[in-house]
Amino acid sequence: MWKKVWTILLAVPILATAQFRFEHTPENRWILSNGIIEATFAYTEKKTFEFESIRSLKTGDSWQAAQNVISSPVRFATIRTAVDAYIPLNLVDATTVAIDKKGMRQTLVFEESGGGFRIYLHLEMYENQPVLRYSVRVKNNLDASRRVRLADMLSWRFDQPAGGLQMMRVNQWSVLPPLGNFQPIESSLKDGNAVRLTSGASEQECAWIAIRDANNRGLVAGWEFDGKTEAGAEWSAKEKRLTLSAQIADLNRRLEPGEEFQVPPAFIGLFHGDWDEAGYRTQRFVENVLGKTPPEGNKFPYAVWDSWAYRTDIHEEVLRRNAEQAARMGMELFIVDLGWAQGIGDWQEDPEKFPSGLRALSDYVHSLGMKFGLHIAPAEAAANSPVVRDHSDWLATEPNSYFGAKSICLSHKPAQEWVLSQILRVIDDYAVDWILQDGEHMVKQCTRTDHTHDPEDSNYSNAVEGLDALLEAVQIRRPNTSWENCANGGSMMTFNMVKRYVTSITNDASGARAARQAVYGATYPFPPRYSDRYMPEMASNTYETRSYMFGGPWIFMNKLVDMTAEQQKLAESEIRTFKQIRGQIGSSKVFHLTAGPAEGRTDAIQGHLPELDSSVVVVTRDLARGPFTLKPGGLNPEKTYMVRFQSDSRVLTMTGGQLMNDGVPITLPQSQSAEIVYLEPADRNPENN
Ligand SMILES: [Zn+2]
Repeated sequence: MWKKVWTILLAVPILATAQFRFEHTPENRWILSNGIIEATFAYTEKKTFEFESIRSLKTGDSWQAAQNVISSPVRFATIRTAVDAYIPLNLVDATTVAIDKKGMRQTLVFEESGGGFRIYLHLEMYENQPVLRYSVRVKNNLDASRRVRLADMLSWRFDQPAGGLQMMRVNQWSVLPPLGNFQPIESSLKDGNAVRLTSGASEQECAWIAIRDANNRGLVAGWEFDGKTEAGAEWSAKEKRLTLSAQIADLNRRLEPGEEFQVPPAFIGLFHGDWDEAGYRTQRFVENVLGKTPPEGNKFPYAVWDSWAYRTDIHEEVLRRNAEQAARMGMELFIVDLGWAQGIGDWQEDPEKFPSGLRALSDYVHSLGMKFGLHIAPAEAAANSPVVRDHSDWLATEPNSYFGAKSICLSHKPAQEWVLSQILRVIDDYAVDWILQDGEHMVKQCTRTDHTHDPEDSNYSNAVEGLDALLEAVQIRRPNTSWENCANGGSMMTFNMVKRYVTSITNDASGARAARQAVYGATYPFPPRYSDRYMPEMASNTYETRSYMFGGPWIFMNKLVDMTAEQQKLAESEIRTFKQIRGQIGSSKVFHLTAGPAEGRTDAIQGHLPELDSSVVVVTRDLARGPFTLKPGGLNPEKTYMVRFQSDSRVLTMTGGQLMNDGVPITLPQSQSAEIVYLEPADRNPENN
């Protein structure tokens, strides 16, 4: 059998842009390379499909498969059968195609002996990305139904004889104990002690891990699933093995004859260096491959106003006055938050709050040159809303509640179709450019037996066929409306999220220090644009404004019309600065130069653009005693840099070596104050000198 396949494969030309080399050898090995990394797999005479190694062609770092066990990215199980590295599989097809985003895909198709599952394995690489992305899809070829009870998105076993492995994971935002505000958590992988995490909607951690050894040889991994996932890493000294896994929680997928099941894709990448480098490699992959393209790339992330300072006590008059002020201050997006509708789940404008109609406000906002955004909680409905009165059977069994509302089951087809129609109508009727999604736990629990989904498969079906299917349906039909991820804060920080949303909130209007803390942690797994920040303060000083300067959209959540003239003037000038640096920060490598922000510290975060060798650093003194010396990262020690400041009028010339080793003293006279530092090669004509 395999010889026949091999002949077919040799007939397939090696498709490629220059740097790709996807090769099938006469020994039935697949050597996949994009010129940056090389991954090797083998189909053995025992008919097992095995991972062999992944290595960097730039650094020489190599991760080999564990000895004495077989490692395979295919790992799922029914109650009776495990389909994993040890199961003999017949290889029935193999194809290589060029794919979007400058990528190449190897597809291998296997069949269980005796005809059971048909398994489609996709292995993908992309230009200039040291990342292998992959996914498994299974089809039930039996005459009887089968239930898939386990699916591992991160099935890897690496040879790792020596200890000293460090692992990093990052919390999501969580207001329920244990509290989370994107704290990065570093652990040692000690012999036999697994480090475990749970990701997905309303879970504890982001869907990401990074691991490195004492020689800075590192792996990053992320998974593209919004539901609950139980992931972990474990090192065994005796077995000399590093084991990774990320399993879909509570999976119970019934497959009728001929039915298919898609295990969500995941990726594994190589880095060499510290956690900033791990983050950078992940972030470049997101920006180049996975991430939803933002609107107006060069104007994104936006300066934004959001009405939540008024809570639900809004009215068209006060919103108009805030819109005029927002436009004067240079804002680009104006969002009407919760409270515009007659009720949660009743997505019709409230005629008392909008006597001229919500569309008139939207038109006015557009006439002022801004985009119009609207809050919607797609899976929530108040008990007295028409949808709940008419269709109480659409409710999910979800125990959590959003402002007292009930949960709609997005995985129940009639309910999803209704929600889709409502979102499309809202977008069209009110000319909506931006949706601030909100809710409580976006992937609802639902075990009802009268819904179209399987009651025993709530987690997967509500994530993939519920929320994700709804978003896809909306976005295909209304591609020009952008989505912001929020569910009382950034509590669904996954690599599926980045495919649907152009940004995400981090924490929920928690103040200047908490905003910096969230950005500090979120900018390990996610590009800066996925850290948007709600600013409740009035912009009384640059400590306040610059605490929100670094990241994605800067969202003012204050009463603009109540700001003093002085506050307005400061905010206007700071928004101008934000617009000058946002493009650079978005594409930069983030250096976390200090420990995370905390009372009594000075913190510094740097965005360094390797292509231009220029940097923006935001330095914030937060009740710290004593002076602060900034030591930036990423510079060329031999090169001379011009050092300028946003507030301080000094202009310095220093070498990269001087800057990184001796540092530059930052003038921060107030106990709460902030400075923005610019570093540019001295041989480039600085714009404002
Ligand atoms: Zn349901």
